[in-house]
Amino acid sequence: MVKDSIKRRKPNILVTGTPGTGKTTTSTALAEATQLNHINIGDLVKEKNLHDGWDDELDSYILNEDLVCDELEDVMDEGGNIVDYHGCDFFPERWFDCVVVLQTDNTILYDRLSRRGYKESKLSNNVECEIFQVLLEEAKESYAEDKVVALKSDTIEDISRNVATLTDWIRNWSIQV
Ligand code: ADP
Ligand code: MN
Repeated sequence: MVKDSIKRRKPNILVTGTPGTGKTTTSTALAEATQLNHINIGDLVKEKNLHDGWDDELDSYILNEDLVCDELEDVMDEGGNIVDYHGCDFFPERWFDCVVVLQTDNTILYDRLSRRGYKESKLSNNVECEIFQVLLEEAKESYAEDKVVALKSDTIEDISRNVATLTDWIRNWSIQV
């Protein structure tokens, strides 16, 4: 994870991964530990109507990438954001200093998503997405290799360790500026 030459005083971090891998839980804890600003893209899209309607088949909003990127441009320039979303290929590459891909064991993920009440098709789509490491591949294709880090998120202990690791990294980044 190498620092960019961009003049941000605090880093921007993208937390991505298949739904249910713990992005929101991890981002919330990390924001608390570091005072960085947690941006949950799913919530933002709903609140500000940054979508083109509802997709019945996928059972989710159709996110409008241009609207989302326009909405975030200024705040991302400022730095100090933790962006939480299950996709990563449409954000400008220059926005992020670190791209975290959370990964969860398939059976654990299956249980989490059934508890969430996902319907069968959405459940199997997401577990398949995890099996084929779709988000890790997407991150590697969209960002420089030294910015992408995959972290295991099976247990509560994993969350604590990931938050501690990322908190250290954020502190170091800020000192180096
Ligand atoms: P995401 O934002 O990636 O969809 P969430 O953070 O909402 O995932 O987590 C989904 C569910 O799984 C929540 O009930 C959360 O408490 C649980 N969970 C997430 N990560 C872990 C983990 N590493 N260990 C145990 N439970 C977890
Ligand atoms: Mn979430």
